[in-house]
Parts: sequence; C-alpha cells; structure tokens
Amino acid sequence: MTAVAPQRVVVGSLDTNCWIVRAEGARQALLVDPGDEAERVLAAVAGLDVTAIVLTHTHYDHVLGVAPVAAALGVPVLGHAEEEAVWRHELAHLAEHGHFDAGTATDELLAEGRPPRPTAELWSGDLDGHLTDGQVLQVGPLRVEVLHTPGHTPGGVSLSADGHVFTGDTLFPGGSKRLTSSKDLTGLGELRIPRTGPPETSGGPVSL
Ligand SMILES: [Zn+2]
Ligand SMILES: [Zn+2]
Repeated sequence: MTAVAPQRVVVGSLDTNCWIVRAEGARQALLVDPGDEAERVLAAVAGLDVTAIVLTHTHYDHVLGVAPVAAALGVPVLGHAEEEAVWRHELAHLAEHGHFDAGTATDELLAEGRPPRPTAELWSGDLDGHLTDGQVLQVGPLRVEVLHTPGHTPGGVSLSADGHVFTGDTLFPGGSKRLTSSKDLTGLGELRIPRTGPPETSGGPVSL
C-alpha cells in the first residue's frame, strides 16, 4: 500500500485544518479545505502538482481561501452537491448580518471584535465536480476514497487514504460526537459509516 504523507496548515480565525494529501515522495497532491490565508497555503504547496481542491464541507472557515487558491493553481474545486446550499446559507448570513455564521463560536468572535468576515475574494459556490460516496480519487500513486459523512452538514465528506481519514468537522472537539479533546479520538478505533450501497457500485477511479 502506498504510504500517505499528510501535511497540515492551520488557517484562519477558527484554526481550521487545511490538509495537503499526497503519497510519500510524490508531487501530485490534493488540497483539502483551503479555509483562509491563501498565501500561506500556496507557499505550502509550492513545488507540488496540486490536482484538485477538495472541500470536506462549505462552512466559511473551510472556504475563505478557495477563490484565490483555485485561481492561482488553476485546478477544479470538488465537493458534495449538497454543500452548495450550505455555502448559499453562509452568503445569506453574511448579507443579512454583516458576518458569517460561526455557530456557537459566533458570539465569542463578535465579543472579541473578530467578526468572521471575508478575507479575500469570495468563492462563487460553483463546484467543478461533485463527489459521491465510494468515489476513488487517484492522486499520483495514492488512492483516496471519498466517504459521504453527513451530520455536521448534509454534504460533508471525509477522505480515506492509507489508513488515514481526513474528516473535516465530522469529528472535532466539541462537535457532534461531543468530543472534548482530540485525545478522545485515540480510543475510537474503527469508524463505521453506513452506506447506501456497496462502494464498487459508486463509480470507478477518477484520475485527477
Ligand atoms: Zn464546519
Ligand atoms: Zn470548521
């Protein structure tokens, strides 16, 4: 099995994880959730061949860097079709309240004088490709499987590669599983995800 060499860039006001997912030693990479600080994200992928941007979901803290990063790299933006409505909600909230909806953290950010607002040109919300459960993204030698993991948002996806699962906010401290610390994940062991059908019926590998 090809070993994955994940690299994390923590970005934005909510310390969101942006992941660079590639096989050890390979140039081809997926860029997951460029949530803010486009210049730092671009610096982190300099010298790599990013084949696509993948959004685990479209809460603003996972999306604010998408427009400048996609423009600079010229690569498609992929996500689950149901996330287009989530981003539309974020834009409507911004239009109505002058800032994004950060859920339970909203009041805290406002009190700290850090209302969540656009930091760059905003993403249009148009996905260049829709991800479905069981889909395989071939990233150089690395096989990355898409898992539809709704709960945090309807179109949330996780990415599985070489025993690593990149979950976006499907699992996070204080999140829907009521984790209080990342240590709570240590004993989690196997993650069981209900499927609508066997993965082999969900489409073959997609080369990016
Ligand atoms: Zn989220
Ligand atoms: Zn988040």
